Amino acid sequence: MDTLTKEIQELRERRNAIILAHYYQRPEVQDLADRVGDSLGLARAATEVEADVIVFCGVHFMAETAAILNPDTPVLLPDTKSGCPMADMITREALEERKADDPDAVVVTYVNSSAAVKASSDICCTSANAVRVVEDVPAERPVLFTPDRNLGHYVRRRTGRNIMLWEGWCPTHERILPEHILERKREHPDAAVVVHPECPPAVIDLADAVASTGGMLDYCAASECGAFIIGTESGFLYPLERRCPDKKFYAASPVADCPNMKRITAGKVRDALESMQPRVTVPDDIARDARAPIERMLAAGRDRP
Ligand code: SF4
Repeated sequence: MDTLTKEIQELRERRNAIILAHYYQRPEVQDLADRVGDSLGLARAATEVEADVIVFCGVHFMAETAAILNPDTPVLLPDTKSGCPMADMITREALEERKADDPDAVVVTYVNSSAAVKASSDICCTSANAVRVVEDVPAERPVLFTPDRNLGHYVRRRTGRNIMLWEGWCPTHERILPEHILERKREHPDAAVVVHPECPPAVIDLADAVASTGGMLDYCAASECGAFIIGTESGFLYPLERRCPDKKFYAASPVADCPNMKRITAGKVRDALESMQPRVTVPDDIARDARAPIERMLAAGRDRP
């Protein structure tokens, strides 16, 4: 074990801390984590925490969700600049204005949003259960889906529901283009194409399977296929290769990195545990209003395949 890993182990024990990491984190950070998962898995993990400190290796909105679910436990985000550009494409004020135009609409908000936006929503969802969540909305009510237009578009196609879309998107997934998929397909004609629903609709049209990161792992592990073209953030190849060491994985696009997810390093995890900073907090009134939509999301099952 190298010196840095040893220091982190000692600090983790001294602080009685748990380290949660998203699948898009650097391999060195995923290796340190007690739990690695997708947004839904990590939000659920955050409800089961018995530790005295949570170190969240992800982006800001994920740490906020953990803080809302664990009001008495400090939540550390090792780099406060780890934000999410898609989450920044909507504010609570803009959402309130939009809601006034369609007061009958049920607001379904992707977990990739600020706590304040969640607080103005009826129910949250992740990419693992967005279809399920919308299916459970009474059929006569329109849905306003925020902030990811691509995920909302995918859910609209899967459910056939009347869904109004917010104009937000993930810059990382938006860079994955149909030409990338076609080029990889020419190189690896036997590989199955598996993409995340944050990808643009034209990319989804070329896929054999569309799933959240957790769903992609399960799909690739269960498939008889031995090779896959993966349409999501590049860090996800690492957990795929760990779970399925006998299969081949090819990144769909050479430019699908999320710089925000890569800000956190093992050194920053050590520094956070040492200084107990930076800590993510959510104002009490926002946390109170955001809790119910998050809990409804946790109560919904994952999408059916
Ligand atoms: S991959 Fe996209 S949605 Fe996820 S944190 Fe990065 S910018 Fe946000």
